[in-house]
Amino acid sequence: MRRAYSIIVSAGLAPFLIMGACLVLALSPSLVPGELAGLVRYGPFLLAVLGGAIAWWFNRGQAVFVMALLLVCYWLLVGNGAGFSPDGLAFLRIATLYLIPINLVFLGFTAERGVLNPRGIARMLVLGLQLFVMVMLAGQPDVGSALYQMLDTRFITGGGVLAEIPHPALILSVFAVVVLLIRHKPLETSFAAAIIAITVATVMGPGAIQYGYLAATGVVLAGLAQEAWRMAFVDDLTGLAGRRALGHAMAELGSQYAIAMLDVDHFKKFNDTYGHDVGDIVLRKVARELSHVGGGGKAFRYGGEEFTVVFAGRNAQKAQELLDALRKRIAENKITVPDKNKTVSVKISVGLAERDEDDTDPWDVLKRADKKLYEAKQAGRNRVVA
Ligand code: GH3
Ligand code: MG
Ligand code: MG
Repeated sequence: MRRAYSIIVSAGLAPFLIMGACLVLALSPSLVPGELAGLVRYGPFLLAVLGGAIAWWFNRGQAVFVMALLLVCYWLLVGNGAGFSPDGLAFLRIATLYLIPINLVFLGFTAERGVLNPRGIARMLVLGLQLFVMVMLAGQPDVGSALYQMLDTRFITGGGVLAEIPHPALILSVFAVVVLLIRHKPLETSFAAAIIAITVATVMGPGAIQYGYLAATGVVLAGLAQEAWRMAFVDDLTGLAGRRALGHAMAELGSQYAIAMLDVDHFKKFNDTYGHDVGDIVLRKVARELSHVGGGGKAFRYGGEEFTVVFAGRNAQKAQELLDALRKRIAENKITVPDKNKTVSVKISVGLAERDEDDTDPWDVLKRADKKLYEAKQAGRNRVVA
């Protein structure tokens, strides 16, 4: 339950809005004015090209290939199929329902390798080869219709939703969605949403397919945007908001706030004694505690082993209580060092300052907090100085 909730939250609102809007349009196509019908029809092509270009620019090979696949599949579905026999085209169209979940899971689960390098090109070739083989098979008389029969399987008979989609494709899609959601990353979550959109559109019938692909390309584009947002504002190691996000938070502060600067005591010792990996574990652990400091305090990784907590609308007194409790919690919860069967305790020093009447710049308050941090270190560490 918590996991499902956190997946929904981390996915953000954009995918739900995009999927919801496309679903509404698919259910009542008359909402789209006639002049915009072309936009809906060609929209998936536009979004796939735009998304592919942005993904390439970010060096996100997975998303480049997903967009390329969606583009080709959409073209197979809505193109006039010139050059193919009706059976061959029917096979190609039904094959998209298998190609998409299989390839999206594959791309979601393989490490990012960029685009124009041997590994990226190898992936491009694998994708191209699948499409090439499909097109070759579709061109053979009889083969196309035999393959179509094979892919158009139903395990249980009956009408309703289950009649509209081949059952193996449905099972594959459900499996793909589940495993991609478990990855719990923006881009992979968007791949899952794309599969959902295409599956739903398939079940709704041929008239809905353009809305399905509009939603699919749209959510992957939104996933890319979210990924870019994460890269800009979230620290990779600790998952806390980063320095850039601190700049934004500082700019939004009102007339009352307190700012704390934290520094891990003798942090070099962890790196030197146990290695950099253990240093990283310590940082993650401190970050996790910091994110629950309470009192509305928002934690940021300032840099290295230094963190900032901003308490908007609070004075230093309340913040000090919370920070001191936090300091104790961190010191008490010892960390087990992997492979060494040893526990280490982590201590932090904290400097705290609040806004005075004559403060105009929050960064001045932060500087004062930093001075207090220095005092805390001088006074013997493992303490909060306000
Ligand atoms: P003090 O109690 O005075 O703060 O001592 P200290 O050893 O913590 O102080 P110092 O600021 O000299 O050490 C900071 C070290 O943090 C140096 C650097 O190698 C390490 N460090 C910075 N960023 C990272 C990181 O992301 N991971 C790891 N493992 N170490 C980092
Ligand atoms: Mg330091
Ligand atoms: Mg330190």
